[in-house]
Amino acid sequence: MASIFTKIINGEIPSYKIAEDTKFYAFLDINPNAKGHTLVIPKKEENKIFDLSKEEYIELMNFSYRIAKALEKTIPCERIGMSVIGLEVPHVHVHLIPINKMADMQFVNKEKLTNEEFLNLAENIAGNFE
Ligand code: 5GP
Repeated sequence: MASIFTKIINGEIPSYKIAEDTKFYAFLDINPNAKGHTLVIPKKEENKIFDLSKEEYIELMNFSYRIAKALEKTIPCERIGMSVIGLEVPHVHVHLIPINKMADMQFVNKEKLTNEEFLNLAENIAGNFE
């Protein structure tokens, strides 16, 4: 069965998209740790990140780098934190999180955003994506 993220890639489930190319897709996390919390996923459905080939892994990191640069330009923050967990959704995803303190990486304190805030964030980050 297709993962929830494959359904997002295929447009069957809506998302606040930031960018995509032929192999990768980036969108805002629906339950963000902080404003701009983004997920970067390979379009190829794979459960665990280290089951990707070395080449796929490096390409995912290269795409994530470009997204992180766009986040830095858009969201005032101390730095961009990166994490890979995958216990909830079995489709590889890199969490890129604009952080100011360690607690922003702990997946406990969540930011509540309106639809409009999500839309504006996605548009602004996408506008800084190169
Ligand atoms: P993990 O698998 O790394 O533990 O966490 C999965 C992440 O995906 C969570 O941060 C959760 O908020 C996010 N997530 C789960 N379902 C959806 C969804 O349907 N849309 C979006 N945008 N994010 C989701």
